[in-house]
Amino acid sequence: MSQNRTLNDIRALLEQVQRVLIVSHIMPDGDTLGSALGLAWALRARGIEARLSCADEVPADFAFLPGLADYAVRPLTDEQAVLVVDSSDLERIGSIYGEAAFARVPVVNIDHHVTNLSFGNINLIVPKASTAELVLDVITFLEIPLDQRIATCLLTGVVTDTRGFRTSNTTADTLRAAVRLVEAGAPLSEITDAVFSHRSLDTLRLWGPALSNVQRRGRIVWAEITQEMLREAGVDISAAGGLVNFLSSFHEAQVAIVFRELEDGRVDVSMRAIPALDVSQVALAFGGGGHPQAAGCTVVGTLPDVRERIIAALQEQWTERPSDERAPQRLDGTDVRPA
Ligand code: AMP
Ligand code: MN
Ligand code: MN
Repeated sequence: MSQNRTLNDIRALLEQVQRVLIVSHIMPDGDTLGSALGLAWALRARGIEARLSCADEVPADFAFLPGLADYAVRPLTDEQAVLVVDSSDLERIGSIYGEAAFARVPVVNIDHHVTNLSFGNINLIVPKASTAELVLDVITFLEIPLDQRIATCLLTGVVTDTRGFRTSNTTADTLRAAVRLVEAGAPLSEITDAVFSHRSLDTLRLWGPALSNVQRRGRIVWAEITQEMLREAGVDISAAGGLVNFLSSFHEAQVAIVFRELEDGRVDVSMRAIPALDVSQVALAFGGGGHPQAAGCTVVGTLPDVRERIIAALQEQWTERPSDERAPQRLDGTDVRPA
């Protein structure tokens, strides 16, 4: 469906509601939080009561975002619509999803992941660099003026998902969106500083052992975080956030992966790929999702078991589909396209 028709549908819906629930995904990042909060402030300017929900605790690192304290593990109650942001499927919002409750109201799905399953009644899915840019499109379409609060939230989404305008999906459009947000008062350097430069020493105590045991097979480089490592460093699992980006900065790593052992017998897998490769399809095949260059999934099994299955699936994907334009190389770096 055309983007304008979808935006029209969103406008028509929002004209009829007084209360909405805006939901962010589990293990929330700057994009899901910034997009939800930016949207909430914009809708409030329109007289709509916007409530914020996330199944997981929101990281204190984002305390600078106006309204962050309003988040709660809030199920759908008397709201007349649900807006889910930055989530490729409903599993991604964890315990907030309830089949019966969600069937009662329109679900609006605003997301930029290529792996999105179009689970909403209205689906605004555009593969931009961040969901925040899509929320900016919605706000612009609704002719709601930007203010500093909205702009700060949305720019945080753009900055975090593009890793500071450095990812390969950062386009001129992304930069134009950022310019508008800075013009509306978003403090770019403060946001950048808050999201990239506030790591604790405890984080370093976790990354140290993880990095000293880093492993490599062909062009896949990976690190593993076990529950025991978390206990020893005295940190929770969110301290591993950012490690995969750091790993991907080593040029031997065409694919960088961080495997994190969860408490419940599952393993969280976080992957990054160089622009010539695509990790989103393997993530999707394991029940997760993401983008060609950054994707993830949560898989049942022990860490060694999940690691072997993921690596095997990646290697299989790139050797089985030699004509795939997005996968021009074997993991050993040789060309696999027919001559
Ligand atoms: P991360 O590695 O956590 O920074 O995530 C990279 C990308 O993959 C993000 O766009 C996430 O939304 C997506 N992603 C990560 N983990 C999952 C998962 N378990 N299920 C679906 N998508 C995921
Ligand atoms: Mn996200
Ligand atoms: Mn995102």
